[in-house]
Amino acid sequence: MCRSCTNEQSCKLAPYNYLRSRLRSRQQGNSLHKILLSEPIDEAGLKVLEGRAEIVISPDPSEESVGKLLKDADALILRTATRVTADMIKAASSLKVISRTGGGLSNIDIEAATEHNVVVCGVKGPQDRFVAEHAVLMMGALAKRFSYLDEQTRKGNFKSRFEYLPDGLAGKRVGLIGLGRIGRIVADICIKGFNMEVWAYDPYVDAASIVLDGVVLSDNLNEVLKTADFLSLHVPATEETIGLIGKDQFTLMKPTAFIINTSRGEVIREADLVEALKNGHIAGAGLDVFEKEPPDPQNQLFQLENVLVTPHSAALTKQTVAKLAEGAAENALIVLEGKKPPYSPNWDIIQDKKQTHVESKAISH
Ligand code: NAD
Repeated sequence: MCRSCTNEQSCKLAPYNYLRSRLRSRQQGNSLHKILLSEPIDEAGLKVLEGRAEIVISPDPSEESVGKLLKDADALILRTATRVTADMIKAASSLKVISRTGGGLSNIDIEAATEHNVVVCGVKGPQDRFVAEHAVLMMGALAKRFSYLDEQTRKGNFKSRFEYLPDGLAGKRVGLIGLGRIGRIVADICIKGFNMEVWAYDPYVDAASIVLDGVVLSDNLNEVLKTADFLSLHVPATEETIGLIGKDQFTLMKPTAFIINTSRGEVIREADLVEALKNGHIAGAGLDVFEKEPPDPQNQLFQLENVLVTPHSAALTKQTVAKLAEGAAENALIVLEGKKPPYSPNWDIIQDKKQTHVESKAISH
């Protein structure tokens, strides 16, 4: 039970604190690695660590709380609410690995991690299909006007059926920005499941690598923007993609088009999106991610009827949460044992640096 709770039954942290104390007592006399969790993770992940690490759970995901505890941690298992800055990494002299419970690494200063030989790794795979499903279901819910019609039916306005609002998906064009793991599954579902047309813009894939029948790969972003009935974003947040979709892009889009973002909030300029939705430059938006998370409850997007929102939950299905936690825990241990994790943007760079260091030392002797 945590200090602020009076009832052990209802304290959400009780199982974690119990486990933590059990692990602490077990490791007396042993030098187990200290693994910090920025937020609680699924029990499946804790089971992986049981007996193999001392687990510390941050009381909250703020930079301040996580940063303080990170100073003497060997590993950090990171969810999305904490931004790991260069200062936090610099102050954590024992830190060897930052292991994300997902594939997106944009809340980590990877450059600083690499400079300080801290391996950054993520879990890719288990969530892909579910994020793709989420994007496609948002398209359907928006086009069919589910939120509005649900509300009217409950209110007794059965006549809303004669407003003829639902639109079909078949024959509509989906414009994908980013044709990686998730983008390709979206394309597959849209083509095979809904008989839609798919155009994609991704300058980093070549047409020959696209094994999906029916996807038109365009090298012209504006062309995809102008012709899409549904624009769905599947790019990482990078210098190139942050703010990629703003006022100029919304102006090009069809007034009947919907934008769906299950990638990263920063890819869309949110203030421009609010304007585009209010001015009728586009018809609506389905958003799982936001510029700032958690978003301010006063966020203007929440005042708009043509917006459907979810709390960055596309990947968090019953099937994936355990797998993501397990994967992140396993990756942290793999790196602490000196082995290469399945997905890391800086493992090879750090190994090369270490090798160069050893060689230059040998020469100088
Ligand atoms: P991925 O790396 O497999 O694919 C990303 C694709 O984007 C790549 O093909 C890359 O070439 C392309 N790309 C990069 N820069 C581009 C640019 N400037 N223009 C067009 N294309 C560009 O990634 P993924 O696993 O498919 O994930 C896609 C996004 O979904 C990421 O932002 C990831 O963080 C996010 N995601 C969100 C959730 C969620 O819960 N909402 C869960 C998982 C992943």
